[in-house]
Amino acid sequence: MKLHFENFPQRPAWIELDLGKLRRNLQLIRRDLPRDMKWLAVVKDEAYGHGALDVARIAIEEGAWGFGLSTLEEAMTLRDAGITAPLLLLGERRETELEWCVAHNLTVCVNEPHNVRALAKIAARFGKQVPVHVKIHTGMSRYGVRWDEALPLIEQIVAEKSLRLEGVMTHFSQSDETDKTFANLQFARFSEVLRALEQRKISVKLRHACNSGGFLDLPHAHLDMVRVGILMYGVFPSSVCRRIPGIEPVMSVKARIAAIQKLKPGEVVGYGMRYTAPGERRIAVLPIGYGDGFPRVRNQGGTLIHGKRAPLIGGIAMDALMVDITDIPEAQMWDEAVIMGRQGGEEITVHDIAKLKNSVSYEVLTSWRLRLRRKSVDGGQKAARQFEAAELR
Ligand SMILES: *Cc1c(COP(=O)(O)O)cnc(C)c1O
Repeated sequence: MKLHFENFPQRPAWIELDLGKLRRNLQLIRRDLPRDMKWLAVVKDEAYGHGALDVARIAIEEGAWGFGLSTLEEAMTLRDAGITAPLLLLGERRETELEWCVAHNLTVCVNEPHNVRALAKIAARFGKQVPVHVKIHTGMSRYGVRWDEALPLIEQIVAEKSLRLEGVMTHFSQSDETDKTFANLQFARFSEVLRALEQRKISVKLRHACNSGGFLDLPHAHLDMVRVGILMYGVFPSSVCRRIPGIEPVMSVKARIAAIQKLKPGEVVGYGMRYTAPGERRIAVLPIGYGDGFPRVRNQGGTLIHGKRAPLIGGIAMDALMVDITDIPEAQMWDEAVIMGRQGGEEITVHDIAKLKNSVSYEVLTSWRLRLRRKSVDGGQKAARQFEAAELR
């Protein structure tokens, strides 16, 4: 497509992904884990909006065991691109998907008897012994077999010659808040199942429970593998969980000033005239709006220009937002503004934007729209290696 030509004029609003920071985050996570602990890189939803393929390639180099995904399409995209590492589909599969999973060596969670049988038959037909993970619901009531009903299902899997019980997993409802009562209850229920398996001499190579919050705050629940998502991307799952110094956000959102207006006292700005200038003001228009995933706010939030905060004024439009640059006289047409990320000593965090949206960091990362192009900057393999030499040894 012509859009990929190097000289195609890029839209002056984009997402920047610092792959050097991604690599550093992965190294810091790796260094924080016990040596023999495996980690699954969770790259569902285009790696939380960061681009699953780029993230997967770097995660393999940094020692990920495999990848956590949500949909069959996501997994097939990585396989088609030549990723051969284990791909674990985290949700529940429809029977019609199982043949594709077996054909392309995708690892599925089977959580009910009918699918166990169906998967076993397909595997036998392909002449394969396929690894499966059982997802055990220990209180979250989403996917998985109840903890107090899991044994018969697991025994059914073990009895199928074409299946190999590779993993047993659970998922926490709340692992990143100060109060770990419910997480500990869930882990106790999961441990009960694991003990019952040991008693029956059913061995499982990969027992896993922790997402980023659990990895940070529940070391007693690490077991054989942790499933790390948001932390890879440099975002801590909550404000109270443990910090790993040096972890930094990979994603920034930027735009260039596309118009500058001078306001006289009493003049108004934008749809609905939501802002009235209290005096003479100078404002900049940035060509990015709610059509790109920015929250639809009025007179709230801001951007960074020349390392200073420029408050957002008026209501945001589909394709534009306006900021007050009266106190940034050096700001000129096509200067760079940071919508999310760092500039100079200032930062607008994912959490700041989440507050404007009444939402969480996860949603902010995944809701930037596709028409914002992703631009990878590699703080460089070189920088990453220097880091490794200086900090990891
Ligand atoms: C998304 C997901 C994760 C990753 O969660 P983070 O909080 O982003 O680390 C782990 N396990 C399962 C089952 C998930 O669905």
